Amino acid sequence: MGSGGMIVMDEDTCMPDVARYFLDFLTDESCGKCVPCREGMRQMLKLLTNITQGKGKEGDIELLEELAETAQEAALCALGKSSPNPFLSTLKYFRDEYEAHVKEKRCPALSCKELIAYYIDPAKCNACTTCGKKCPTGAIIGGKNLIHMIDQEKCTKCGTCFEVCPPKFRAVTKISGVPVPPPLPEEARTIVRESKQK
Ligand code: SF4
Ligand code: SF4
Ligand code: SF4
Repeated sequence: MGSGGMIVMDEDTCMPDVARYFLDFLTDESCGKCVPCREGMRQMLKLLTNITQGKGKEGDIELLEELAETAQEAALCALGKSSPNPFLSTLKYFRDEYEAHVKEKRCPALSCKELIAYYIDPAKCNACTTCGKKCPTGAIIGGKNLIHMIDQEKCTKCGTCFEVCPPKFRAVTKISGVPVPPPLPEEARTIVRESKQK
């Protein structure tokens, strides 16, 4: 990415967000002398930010391509000419990710905060109570023998519950592009545990 350094990313890294990140950096670096770089980059950053926030519109990807090509051709120095590269490179190999953000309001990497929700799979939750104790906003509803669920209104998507749910349960999941399933009634959430004593 520019300096000859190599960054290794996996499927949890959102490509439109990677492009946004690098453009944000380069926008600060622009000296402002020429329009394709100064204004073009600013517009590209705005479009990419919208896309990662679920506010992307039909035609935004094409507009980004146009702005990128203009900067490559008309910017005065190497900074402006190369500034669209992170966008063009990620678009070339991961166009489907851009389209998912714009058309389906879905982040395939489950990374863009505005496009994901945390959800507890009732079939996997053991009501161990760990996530409820760690949630900083009190968004998790549950009890010792009650399958837990998340109050989406209170959830700030900090990810703590996702991290602390024990690997043997892995009940907390991230979803994107689909509605959060409705909560189960309390009677369906009660866990009857077998007594250890016979
Ligand atoms: S392309 Fe170079 S000269 Fe033009 S605004 Fe960007 S940094 Fe300045
Ligand atoms: S993501 Fe954070 S705020 Fe939301 S339910 Fe989990 S721990 Fe609570
Ligand atoms: S940590 Fe996991 S298993 Fe335990 S209550 Fe929360 S969601 Fe359920």
